[in-house]
Amino acid sequence: MLHERPQVLVIAGLDPSGGAGIQADIQAITAMGCHPLPVISCLTVQDTVNVLGSEAVDAQLIRRQLQALKADCPIHAIKTGALGNAAVVQVLAEFLAQMPGVPLVLDPVIKAAGGGELADESLWCTMRDHLFPLADLLTPNGPELCQLGDSDNTEGAVARLMQTGCGAILATGGHGKEALISNRLYQPGQPVQTWQLPRVGGEYHGSGCTLAAAISAGMAKGQSLPAAIEAAQTFVAGSIEHALQVGRGQPVPDRVAR
Ligand code: PLP
Repeated sequence: MLHERPQVLVIAGLDPSGGAGIQADIQAITAMGCHPLPVISCLTVQDTVNVLGSEAVDAQLIRRQLQALKADCPIHAIKTGALGNAAVVQVLAEFLAQMPGVPLVLDPVIKAAGGGELADESLWCTMRDHLFPLADLLTPNGPELCQLGDSDNTEGAVARLMQTGCGAILATGGHGKEALISNRLYQPGQPVQTWQLPRVGGEYHGSGCTLAAAISAGMAKGQSLPAAIEAAQTFVAGSIEHALQVGRGQPVPDRVAR
């Protein structure tokens, strides 16, 4: 007998170290019980230390991939990561306009943890203007929130990003220095919801991708946003606990650890 699983369309970049990007997404979405439909937005030159280069996939090829999937497969949630260039973002915006009601988790990837750039200004401005209004959830880390919200102050940056029309913002605290990591969920007209987790210490390559992908899987399964966030945080904490030493740089969360 054939089975079905909720399906998550994921558009993200390839990190050949297997730490971040679409491999992280595929592993996290699969581990959370969903079937990923992966579309690669860019190919990076990268190791566990840093990004050394990135090339976007041709936007028209991505358009054809998205249309082929839409015509064939039920899509229960969509998750985006690094997007390559502004042309890919435009294609994605046109596609998403045809997918009303499908939850969209948008991880606004700008830089790798090692500092390497994954988005130029035209990309992140296009993303902010054309994709944020369509997103149910943005998952910026601290530096991304400051840059996109144009403020060093979290509340100011959140207020600015809310004006784009996005549904909610999960400001993640993994890049801070406090003993506890605070992840804060902002939703218009609702009190801020905060989760605190012990900081293990150090940076883990692909932890942001893993979190956003796991949340998208929860949403594909029909969970509420807070329930999906809670389950995803537990999943990330477990995969960090079992992190793998892959190269000389940051350890990689083990998303298939048992
Ligand atoms: N997407 C790609 C292709 C990447 O290479 C990276 C970081 O290197 C990211 C996303 C973001 O990774 P993180 O989950 O560490 O924020």
